[in-house]
Amino acid sequence: MDVVHLLPDNVANQIAAGEVIQRPASCLKELVENSIDASATRIQVIVRDAGKTLMQVIDNGKGMSPTDVRMAFERHATSKISNASDLFHLHTMGFRGEALASICAVAQVEVQTRREEDEMGTRLLINGSDVISQEPCSCPVGTNFKVKNLFYNVPVRRKFLKTDQTEMRNILTDFYRIVLVYPKIQFTLIHQDEIVLDLTAGTEKQRIEAIFQHSPRQSFTSQLLDIRCDTDLVSIRGFVGKPEAAGKNAQQYFFVNGRYMRHPYFHKAVMTAYQGMLQAEDNPSYFIYFDIDPEAIDVNIHPTKTEIKFSDEQPIFQIILASVREALGKFNIAPSLDFDTKGKIDMPVQTQAPRPGQLERPVTTRNTTYNPFKAHAIHLPATDWQPMYEKVAEAEQSLFADLDEIGKCYQYAGRYILLNTRKGLMVVDQHRAHAHVLYTTYYHQMEQAQSVSQQLLFPEVWEITLEDTILVEQIRYDLQQVGFDLEQLDKTAYSVLGIPPRMEVSAAIATLQQMLDDVRDTDTNVRENCRRKIALRLAYETAIPYGKILSDDEMEQLIKDLLSLPDYRTSEDGKTVVSFFLSEEIEKRF
Ligand code: ADP
Ligand code: MG
Repeated sequence: MDVVHLLPDNVANQIAAGEVIQRPASCLKELVENSIDASATRIQVIVRDAGKTLMQVIDNGKGMSPTDVRMAFERHATSKISNASDLFHLHTMGFRGEALASICAVAQVEVQTRREEDEMGTRLLINGSDVISQEPCSCPVGTNFKVKNLFYNVPVRRKFLKTDQTEMRNILTDFYRIVLVYPKIQFTLIHQDEIVLDLTAGTEKQRIEAIFQHSPRQSFTSQLLDIRCDTDLVSIRGFVGKPEAAGKNAQQYFFVNGRYMRHPYFHKAVMTAYQGMLQAEDNPSYFIYFDIDPEAIDVNIHPTKTEIKFSDEQPIFQIILASVREALGKFNIAPSLDFDTKGKIDMPVQTQAPRPGQLERPVTTRNTTYNPFKAHAIHLPATDWQPMYEKVAEAEQSLFADLDEIGKCYQYAGRYILLNTRKGLMVVDQHRAHAHVLYTTYYHQMEQAQSVSQQLLFPEVWEITLEDTILVEQIRYDLQQVGFDLEQLDKTAYSVLGIPPRMEVSAAIATLQQMLDDVRDTDTNVRENCRRKIALRLAYETAIPYGKILSDDEMEQLIKDLLSLPDYRTSEDGKTVVSFFLSEEIEKRF
């Protein structure tokens, strides 16, 4: 008996859908691109539950005939190319005829569509590739797509969808990549009956402003410089950010022939142009649009891939580099820059608390071959190591008993607290120790919902991007529990009315921003992880800094607080807080 057979269409479509439609964002992208290809000038997107329940795209494009709309859902059905050579003269976003077939395989789809020349439109219902009904209907010219309950028939895929916040962020990310290329098309994005974006037709610059402007008070595009360069090989135009506006939340976009692309090599060209103008961690924003003969790029790319191959990447690298340099130089920015990098050199004694990421080892001389808590202790001969380790563990266990006898604490190098214990010398990192204690307090505060806040006389304004507002709302309650009292000012700004008790007003906004960055990529167990990250960030920000001279009482209190923690040796982020030098180990040195 022969065993090879073709898969039924609906099964084949479902498999293919796995590639094209990974999440609500990719489904919406396909629908919106189809509307653009249909020459729509107005596109409205309506989303429920981050697209899991409903994604609706309404356009005023050319619509479809009753036969075409039925055909459109077949695999490889497209009106956009007819033969292979068409591939090299593409002017549309789609061309493979895969998207609709894939979408209808994994969702419940309803379409209403009408062409200008038709009196009546068509209404078509498809559930998981099965056509349920097709009938004439009256509807406006254009197409109205509803995609409901994505992956309703593929529970495994549905289960793997992320939280609404994450899926909505993905939708926005993809949406930006499209609307930035089509400023002449009017777009609206509505989520849970609220208008998230309302973009009127205009220029590229106006579109960028409408999306990234932080608030009516702060123009985004005034921080951009124009670039433009026309060569036989490629035309480049767009905008690059002024170096002084560079920061952590840079917006970086490349588009080629009307399509978003990622291109690490060209990115490097842009960054090279900025060389010497940026502080270490800062990134410039850029929006660069390439126009190139479609034959010079690999067009037959997969719809979900954003990386595009060019046949002449090296000369284009040089063109980008020169254009960006010219834009930066034109305004005489380069010579006037004088960044102070000296402040960043790590000093053994610092007067300010460094950021957690910057906690460097102090310049001290000590024997690093012996530390019973680190893996490198294994370098000791095995025979020595085992009993030594046991002794340290024992010493620690008896610490509580020893505590009354500790007596005086000594501060060393403005960073460490030294303590005599019966078994040896205990060395405590003062900043980490305090951060460790505070972390526990903050985390507990969030769990217990005990809010303590110092109210500000003059509220600070915290400006964020529209994307980030979703994130802020997600962690707002926890921020409140540790003392951040926020009030929404407008779509992209919060008024900070209160901050945590030990915090400096001047550090509040930067800390909030860092907290946001910390939790940005948190996906699983969101609540728990966010809390940990918020508590940790805040703890480091408000802990006793290095270089601060401590009184005997302060040191004693800190040590007591520290030792009352279940695991006082290691911080939440895995740093060593306490180290021991056993008496025997010290004696061996003499
Ligand atoms: P592709 O876009 O690659 O051609 P799709 O599966 O996305 O494949 O769409 C199939 C066809 O359906 C398109 O070629 C187009 O003719 C038609 N179509 C899809 N969406 C629309 C729309 N919003 N308006 C008009 N025609 C559409
Ligand atoms: Mg398409």
